[in-house]
Amino acid sequence: MQINVSHIPEDGLNLHFDKDGEWFRNVLTEEEKTELSLQRADVICFVKKLKETIFIEGNIETIITTTCSRCLEVTGFPIKSSFRYSLIPVERQLKEEQELSSEDLEYSYYENDLIDLDAMLFEQIMLQIPMRVLCRETCKGLCPRCGKDLNTTSCDCRTEFIDARLAVLKKLKKEE
Ligand SMILES: [Zn+2]
Ligand SMILES: [Zn+2]
Repeated sequence: MQINVSHIPEDGLNLHFDKDGEWFRNVLTEEEKTELSLQRADVICFVKKLKETIFIEGNIETIITTTCSRCLEVTGFPIKSSFRYSLIPVERQLKEEQELSSEDLEYSYYENDLIDLDAMLFEQIMLQIPMRVLCRETCKGLCPRCGKDLNTTSCDCRTEFIDARLAVLKKLKKEE
């Protein structure tokens, strides 16, 4: 969705909309497409204009579908994020950068009177996805040796592995 700056009324603009997963697919890279998908996103936001500066405040809620980093099962990861943006026209960018000191508000930019809300929503979603998504905190993952899913089955490799470690520990104990 794009917002035309000249269409923002004096007392602001309230937006509430759903976005389907297709939108999200279209902005993902080929590699990301194999890892992530999204069913539906619920967005609420308020857009306010103060001269040329646009303030956007909102919330996005969605569920990302991805694979568990440990067991590779498909899992849903809920995302709930509040965001806030201040935007100025890109033409003012250079001028402002000279005037603003580093502790000043960080601005984003818009071009040709258009604000790309989709890009912001995409950024917000991506920021919320952790490096490692787990199907559950206690996921046991796959056996590094035989590849069996240790959540649903067990294998002997693990006990062998633990036994081997215990043996080393016992040996160390004795040597002490
Ligand atoms: Zn898992
Ligand atoms: Zn195993």
